[in-house]
Amino acid sequence: MREDHDRLRFEIQARDGTARTGRLVTPHGIVETPAFIPLATTGAVRGLDTDEVAALGYEMVLGNTFHLALRPGHERIESLGGLHQFMGWERAIITDSGGFQVFSLAHGNVADEIKGRRGAAGNHGAILGIAEEGVRFRSYLDGVERFMGPEESMRIQAALGSDIALVFDECTPYHADFDYTARSTERTHRWLDRCLQWHEENGPAGQAVFGIVQGGVHEELRRRSSQRVSEAAIDGISIGGTLGRDKDEMGGVLGLTLPLLPSEAPKHLLGIGEPDDLLRGIELGVDLFDCAVPTRLGRHGVALAPLPEERFRMNVRSRALEADEGPLVEGCPCPACTRHTRAYLHYLTRAEELTGVRLLTLHNLTYLERLVRGAREAIAAGRYADYREAGLRGALPWEPMSY
Ligand SMILES: [Zn+2]
Repeated sequence: MREDHDRLRFEIQARDGTARTGRLVTPHGIVETPAFIPLATTGAVRGLDTDEVAALGYEMVLGNTFHLALRPGHERIESLGGLHQFMGWERAIITDSGGFQVFSLAHGNVADEIKGRRGAAGNHGAILGIAEEGVRFRSYLDGVERFMGPEESMRIQAALGSDIALVFDECTPYHADFDYTARSTERTHRWLDRCLQWHEENGPAGQAVFGIVQGGVHEELRRRSSQRVSEAAIDGISIGGTLGRDKDEMGGVLGLTLPLLPSEAPKHLLGIGEPDDLLRGIELGVDLFDCAVPTRLGRHGVALAPLPEERFRMNVRSRALEADEGPLVEGCPCPACTRHTRAYLHYLTRAEELTGVRLLTLHNLTYLERLVRGAREAIAAGRYADYREAGLRGALPWEPMSY
């Protein structure tokens, strides 16, 4: 870890067990943690304008190196003033390194199934070769051969001008065995050094860099990776790779990995963000989460809801809702819940009306924002265990007095 306050400052404010609240101070404003980070993979939070995302209370979004480099191209975005200006977002941006997407071309839907939640697009291209220098692949847009390695990923992220760049890594899938994961993790560590060297010499002065801990589900590899990444000159740590085949295994891998990382480091769990994952991750000391779930579910007619036995999901397309005059979720402050009935939202999703997608996306993002906001309040009050238990049982996140 390094401390460079011109890039990033992380101030832990309250602790409750291993859970904590903090302030991540970036060149584009403060992010109160624990925070959920909506995906703006292609430079837009699907269906929403940036002022709507800000109005929901979000202070950071995640842009994607792979997709933005292919279209419209990082040179274009740079010439138009950088990603903040290009997309009209004045708050903080973190950019994914593109490693997950290029390796998804090789690991395909298996990686997608297991890890699942870090953006499924990109599976239509093809991988042409993985080597020490990087990955050659065919663009899913036009079939043109492209290359991405550590230096290219950092160069793209520098051109985008994100507040936080992630190092280039391989996200190992669940089906990879110990030997493959060990070799891959070692290569990811060498790529970490190359990313940091390129960034040291060429990167923007105000851009922070997060290292990524890999190692799959293997304790020994997670240990090695945690140590290696913690010793590097980075500003924060992301936890990547498969975390197991189910939530119990994920809890085990996280419970093992987090204590190995420096307490003062901001910690980001890559691609995970269902309501119960947030509640459990926050308990273990995770500060940042990003995930496609709220926006993707919105496009598929599914609303987040306090229904633990239904994986916190409500199928708005269900016929059971067609004449239901009640709100989607009682007490939710979002426009879908305050202004419309379940029957109307059901009809919109059945009719595949864009308004339905937008309303469900606004609802889902409201739900997660309120969930992390409630967690911050509970931690500050020293009552996080109660909040977590209530949330896992299906308490509403905007009724903090209910736990
Ligand atoms: Zn709502």
